[in-house]
Amino acid sequence: MKIKLNENFKNVSESYLFSTINKKVAEYKEQNPNAPIIKMGIGDVTLPLPKIVIDAMLKATREMGEIDTFRGYPPEWGYTFTKEAVQKYYKNYNVSLTLDDIFISDGAKTDVSNILDILGHNEVYITSPVYPVYIDSNTMNGNSIHIIEGNKGNRFLPLPVGLDNSAKVIYLCSPNNPTGASYTYDELKMWVDYAKSTGSLIIFDSAYEAFIEDKNIPHSIFELEGARECALEIGSLSKSCGFTGVRCGYTIIPANLEINKIWKRREATKFNGVSYVTQRAAEQALSPEGVKACQENIAYYKRNAKALAECFDELGIFYTGGHNSPYIWLECPNGMKSWDFFDFLLTKANVIGTPGVGFGGEGYFRLTSFNTYENTLEAIERIKKVLKK
Ligand SMILES: *Cc1c(COP(=O)(O)O)cnc(C)c1O
Repeated sequence: MKIKLNENFKNVSESYLFSTINKKVAEYKEQNPNAPIIKMGIGDVTLPLPKIVIDAMLKATREMGEIDTFRGYPPEWGYTFTKEAVQKYYKNYNVSLTLDDIFISDGAKTDVSNILDILGHNEVYITSPVYPVYIDSNTMNGNSIHIIEGNKGNRFLPLPVGLDNSAKVIYLCSPNNPTGASYTYDELKMWVDYAKSTGSLIIFDSAYEAFIEDKNIPHSIFELEGARECALEIGSLSKSCGFTGVRCGYTIIPANLEINKIWKRREATKFNGVSYVTQRAAEQALSPEGVKACQENIAYYKRNAKALAECFDELGIFYTGGHNSPYIWLECPNGMKSWDFFDFLLTKANVIGTPGVGFGGEGYFRLTSFNTYENTLEAIERIKKVLKK
């Protein structure tokens, strides 16, 4: 072919992380076919959807089979009933949204990368370690990327210190994937104040807000004064309600911002909306009864996270997360590198996790709380056995 390609794709780093993990585990299994391996690296929810969500989907499905209730194309920006459900959900956090602020999406990953459609080639600042989509999507767009480093010193919660005063696009994810670290109101306020004073835009990823239990951690950036002048928020029902396989999220772009109108236009051209059945499921999941049911699943994961956190407390190993998050991000013991610790846990404890270097955090390691409670406890016992002095 002689057509021109998007050359930026040549700069996107190959993701070897999960393929390398799978290869290493397969090799180990071949040598040790009976090894009782426990996967503590699962990056997807595992508990089924609550019954009331399924009932809403069944009802909506039946409506689609009747002449009087059949629906064709949904509105590109979401049905009013779904937007109202999001609006009411945000009321729980004392955030007032207008329906024009809200866009219903097929998930956060789509919007967090598609948002670049409406932005020019800005200087982009991304906190690291990080969800790889922010970096990869900006690389695909040929943007200039700056890493703001999270480390032990700042508890993986970098603040806008030492940044110049130019207007930039800033990505924040709190509670964070992979570190589980979460900004307090005071810390997030520093980011909002910085963005406002420099004319910057914060893209706030709130995918894990439903895991927050501490009162001093904001669920939404719009809980902070001034955020409506400088931020947009990308939310998801994937982790909060178990929708990873259903696909629904929402993007909040304050209607007072010019980018709201441009995004509206973008969506009307490039997106045909989220299915009626899915939006009825989302409406139910965001209702008070739905939230209660989804929180039961989250409580299950959080019990696992708590047990993991207690394990590393006992071992005296530095970590973030384990709290307000399904993730625990730990410093590899004895100065081990991420992959060395991966091999160590696999061969000595038959426990699989995710090397932090795959997210930009060499010397760190991510464990997740998405396995069963029984398996989590068993993994903890084995980890203690191989790491206790
Ligand atoms: C899982 C996850 C999402 C959710 O993506 P969906 O497309 O809604 O499933 C968004 N951001 C981060 C950081 C995540 O880990």
